Amino acid sequence: MRLPFFPVPAEGETVFSVVGRCAERLGIANHELMSILIGQRYVKTLFSPLPGYLAKIALAMPNGHPWQDISLLIKHHTALPYFTYFHPSDKRQLTFKMLSKAESPRPIIVGMGLTMYRTPPSPKSPRFCLKCINEQIVNYGFAYFLVAHQLPGVSVCWKHDQVLCDGCNNCGRYPLPGKKLTMPGQCLCNSFQPTAVSTHYVTAGAKWLARNSAYLLDSRPPGDAPIDKLRNGVILSGFGKGSLVEYPRLASAIEAQLGLKVLSSINYSVSENGKPSAWLRRYFSHAKTGRKLSTIAGLLILAAAFESIQDFENNITITRNTADSTSVPSEIAPPEKWKLNLQNTLNNYGFRISSCAAALNTTTWKIAATARDQNIHIPLSSHATQRIGIKRLAQIIRQLENGIQKKQIMNDHKVSEWSLLLIELSYPNLSIVRKKKTSDILLQRHRKVITDLLVEIPDATRSDVLKRFPGIYDYMIKKDKAWFQSMIAKTRGQQPDRREPRLDWQDIDYKLSKAITESAKLLLSSDIKLKRITVTTLLSEHGELQRYTTQPARFPMTTEVLNEFVETKEQYLLRKVSWGIKQLIAADLEISINSLRRMCGIPARKLDPYIDEIRSLIYRFGGQVAKRSKLEE
Ligand SMILES: [Zn+2]
Ligand SMILES: [Zn+2]
Repeated sequence: MRLPFFPVPAEGETVFSVVGRCAERLGIANHELMSILIGQRYVKTLFSPLPGYLAKIALAMPNGHPWQDISLLIKHHTALPYFTYFHPSDKRQLTFKMLSKAESPRPIIVGMGLTMYRTPPSPKSPRFCLKCINEQIVNYGFAYFLVAHQLPGVSVCWKHDQVLCDGCNNCGRYPLPGKKLTMPGQCLCNSFQPTAVSTHYVTAGAKWLARNSAYLLDSRPPGDAPIDKLRNGVILSGFGKGSLVEYPRLASAIEAQLGLKVLSSINYSVSENGKPSAWLRRYFSHAKTGRKLSTIAGLLILAAAFESIQDFENNITITRNTADSTSVPSEIAPPEKWKLNLQNTLNNYGFRISSCAAALNTTTWKIAATARDQNIHIPLSSHATQRIGIKRLAQIIRQLENGIQKKQIMNDHKVSEWSLLLIELSYPNLSIVRKKKTSDILLQRHRKVITDLLVEIPDATRSDVLKRFPGIYDYMIKKDKAWFQSMIAKTRGQQPDRREPRLDWQDIDYKLSKAITESAKLLLSSDIKLKRITVTTLLSEHGELQRYTTQPARFPMTTEVLNEFVETKEQYLLRKVSWGIKQLIAADLEISINSLRRMCGIPARKLDPYIDEIRSLIYRFGGQVAKRSKLEE
C-alpha cells in the first residue's frame, strides 16, 4: 500500500527519523504506521545499525518520492557506506544488494562483524546536536536525526564540535517509554532539558573522529582495495620497516593523534601491557585473510598516516616527523651511504626490494625511488607481471611513455603508485623517455599560450607576456628563447627578431643527424615499446620537420641517418613482436598467437603472414610455444 503523505527525507536523515515524522504528521501510533509500512509492528528494526525492510518501505512510497530508489535510500540515509568503506569493492556492492533485499538486517549485521565492534555500532539512544536541530527548525520547520550522529565512537557533532545529546533530563534517554519514535528536542514533560551522551570528550581527537566518520558517509572509497592503500600509506608515512608495519610506532602515532582518553572511552586503546593491542596488530592480516574489517579500527589507523579521509582519497601521505623523532633513536637512522652502493646491494639480494630494504633498514619505497633516480634496472617479477596482466602492462607502459599523468594512469588501470614505480624500474629507459615527453608537452603548451596571445593582441610585447604570464615568460627565456624572441617584439612598434639569421647549414645538419641517431637508438633500445620510427617522429621530436621537408638538400647527413633508422611497416611489426616475445618469456608464460596478439596489441590476422618469422624469433629468444598453438611446428 502506498502512503501518499510520506515525508521527503532531509539530507542525511535517518530512516527512523523520517518514519517518526510521518507518524507525527499522520497523528497515528507508531506501531500502526509500522504495520502499514513494513507489515510488522516492531519499530526496533529501524534502530539497528542498519535498517531492514527497505524494499517494503520503497514499495510504500508515493510516486516521485526519492526512496522509490532503494539504492539512493541506502546511500544517503543509512550508515552502510560507512560500514563498508574499507571493504573490497565487489564485497561492498554485494552488501548493498543484500541490504536492499533483506527483511531482517540481522544476518547482514552479523556477517559484517558489526556485533564484534569493540564499541557499539550504533547508540542505544538516538543522538542529536542542539545546534543542528536549531538550524533544522529554522531551515525546514522541523527537527530530525542525522545518520552522521549515530556512527560508532562519535559523541560530538562533526559540524558544530559540540557534545551530542540523547534525551531529556526529566524524561530520560531516547527512546522514551511508550514513545519509540520521539523526534529530537521533544519529550513528555513540556520543559525539555537536553541530556548529553554519557561518555564524551570534546577533544581534538574526538572532533577528528566525528568529522572523518561523517565524511565516510558520502565519499567514494579509493580503488578496489582501500585496505591495501591504507597499508601502503602507513608504510610510506614511516611506520614500516621494509614492507612490515612497525606496530609500536604506529600505536604511539594513533595515540598522539586521537588522545588516550578518546581511545579508551571507545574501547580501542592502542596498547595493552606496554604492547600494541591485538586489534591493531591483527588488522591488516585479518584484511588479507578476508576476515571482518571494522571501519572504526581502519579509521584510527588512518589517523596516524593521513591528515584526513580526504587526504587518504587524494593519495597524500603525510610523514609525521614527530613520531619519527620521538621513537627512533638517531644512532640507528639509516646512513645515506647505502645509496652509493645500491646497485651492488640489489645484486646481492637478487633484486628483491623488500629484502634489500630490510637489510638497509629503510623503506621499500625509498629503495625503489633511489633505484629509479640512479637508473638501476630491476626486472618485474613474474608474479607482478601476472598480477597486473600483460595487456594492462602494455597499455600502462604506452601511457607512461606518452607522458600521461600518473594519477590518471592509476585511475584508468586501477593500479597503485607502487606498481607504477615497479614498472618504471623494469624498463630502464622508460623514465628518460617519459621525462623527454613531458617536457615536450610542456613546451608545446607554453608555445600555444604565446600564439594564442598573438591572435588576441597581434602586437603584444615581451613585457606584456611578463605581466600576464610571468611563469611562462621565465620558462621561455630559459628554455625556448630563440623561438620566443622570434615571435614577440621587445617593444611595441618594433618587429620581433623574425629576420632569418645567417645560418651555418652544415653545422645544423651535423647536429641534427647526431640528435636523431640518439633518439632512434633510444627508441630501439631493448625493452621499450614505442610507435613506429618514421621520418616524422624523428624530425618532429627535434622540431625540424618543416625545415627538413622544405629544403632537404641542406641536410645530407640527416638524410643518411634517416635512411638507416626509419622502419617499414613490416620491420616495425617484427620489432613489436620481438618485444612481446621477450615480455612473455620474462613473465614465464607460454607463447601463442593469442597471447602475443594481446601483448603487442596487433590483430591476429596481421600476425598470420609472419608465422615463420615469429617462430624463429621465439626459437632465438628461447621461448616456450603453447600446446596446440599455430606456432607449433
Ligand atoms: Zn551540530
Ligand atoms: Zn522532558
